[in-house]
Amino acid sequence: MPSSNLFDQRPTTEAAMVTGLTAAVAQVLPPLEAFLRFEDGPDPAGKRSVWRGALNEPLPIEGQGAQAVLDALNEVVIPNGLRIGAPGFSGWITTMPSIVPAVAGFVASLVAAQRWYASPGNFLEMLALGWTSEMLGMGAGCGGTFTSGGAVANLVCLAAARQHAGERIGVNPTEEGAGCIPKPRVYATSSLHDVGVRALSVLGLGANAMRVVPMDAGRRRADCDALARMMDEDIAAGCTPVAVIATGGDVRTGTIDPVDRMMKIAHDRGVWLHVDGAYGGFGVLDDRVKHLYGDMGKIDSMAVDPHKWLAVPLGCGAAIVRDGALQQRSLVIGRPDFHHFDPSSRADVGSPFDEFGEGSLYSSVDFSARSRGLTVWAALKEIGVDGMRARVARHLDCARRIAELARGHERLEVVSEPELSICTFRYIPPGAAREPSPALDQLNEAVLKGVRARGRCVPSSAVVDGKFVIRPAFVGPNTEIADAEALVHEVLAVGAELAAR
Ligand SMILES: *Cc1c(COP(=O)(O)O)cnc(C)c1O
Repeated sequence: MPSSNLFDQRPTTEAAMVTGLTAAVAQVLPPLEAFLRFEDGPDPAGKRSVWRGALNEPLPIEGQGAQAVLDALNEVVIPNGLRIGAPGFSGWITTMPSIVPAVAGFVASLVAAQRWYASPGNFLEMLALGWTSEMLGMGAGCGGTFTSGGAVANLVCLAAARQHAGERIGVNPTEEGAGCIPKPRVYATSSLHDVGVRALSVLGLGANAMRVVPMDAGRRRADCDALARMMDEDIAAGCTPVAVIATGGDVRTGTIDPVDRMMKIAHDRGVWLHVDGAYGGFGVLDDRVKHLYGDMGKIDSMAVDPHKWLAVPLGCGAAIVRDGALQQRSLVIGRPDFHHFDPSSRADVGSPFDEFGEGSLYSSVDFSARSRGLTVWAALKEIGVDGMRARVARHLDCARRIAELARGHERLEVVSEPELSICTFRYIPPGAAREPSPALDQLNEAVLKGVRARGRCVPSSAVVDGKFVIRPAFVGPNTEIADAEALVHEVLAVGAELAAR
């Protein structure tokens, strides 16, 4: 039933509401509050036909009015929302925003709808970027930009690496194209996220520029001797090393590459060291693992994702590049006659539109965007570095608690020990050996599905050492130790049920 129509006045010729904010927001708040209690239990897949049926309309030729939209939000969209913020959700490394950054994101969409030109949103964009790099230990003087996410953050960082490699040999890939770099090579292990390879392809270096560095004896981190050897062989063969990429938190196991050793090998050869910290970058706040990140003041670039561990609304990554001037050269598009976008124009500040504001269009791939930094500023102002450190510590504790419980249980096997907030493990039925086997993989796949269907805990999976494993990744702002303990309990309950069949 549609509620009473508050919005039958159509105040503009296009009939879109441009006033009445309080009344409109007031309508969605009760259903949002209900959603955020996550009380409904599992999301039955069968509900899909209901909400699809309600939403799948033909293109409206005549508008249905504001109330029809609010009714659909309240009755269909909000109650069927994706519950990735539920305490038991550990399936992805993206999570729901906490409240204050979510509200800040809403505010930004109205008052910082464009991040350029002098405004608080523009200012907070740069302030928050500086806060982020300072918090990570990279120093506040870095360049870079907020991006739509980790994929673009890695792209922006690797564009800077490409520029660096070109300038070292006296060419300018931004203008001449990546073909001016002879036989480019980029080094990373198989733990590299898919978006890293895609960035090479988008940057014209080609996916084949990737040289896969073998893992060390523990099978989780780069073998640094092999890395050095590969680079020297490539250099002798006339190739151009463009970057070494260390993964600062593998999304499957949470393992951190030996950043310091990789950096030394790269820098000894004049090569860029990039860290993909989209998942694990903020892990550096925890003293138990801080040393694994090496000297953050010396790495050349890092991608982090505030929309993961920092719990700001999705659509916020950050590319942090130590040499900001070089970073901007990597994305310059020319047009010095286009006065409005000349970052040096700080003319008469009679109006905010006379002044470009902080930052540079040449630091990002996208052009217009709302101020994403406003959400990061809100998150950090609310809880500070100490609050963020406590969150990281709690999530590292969650993974360690899983390992502790699983190690002590004959029906469970820890497949990768936690380094960050991931612990991979699997169910072992009575009498089964712990070798990789298709039967165990199938059983654990069924365990995962069974656990998800019960709804209390929602982990995901990975393949580690040839084994299908259950992979919780703890990043949710309201996920606690009890939720990690519940996951172990759920896996044991479902596993026992399936093994008994
Ligand atoms: C999430 C993630 C990415 C991709 O980032 P998006 O925000 O999804 O674009 C890249 N690398 C790592 C290590 C990640 O965890």
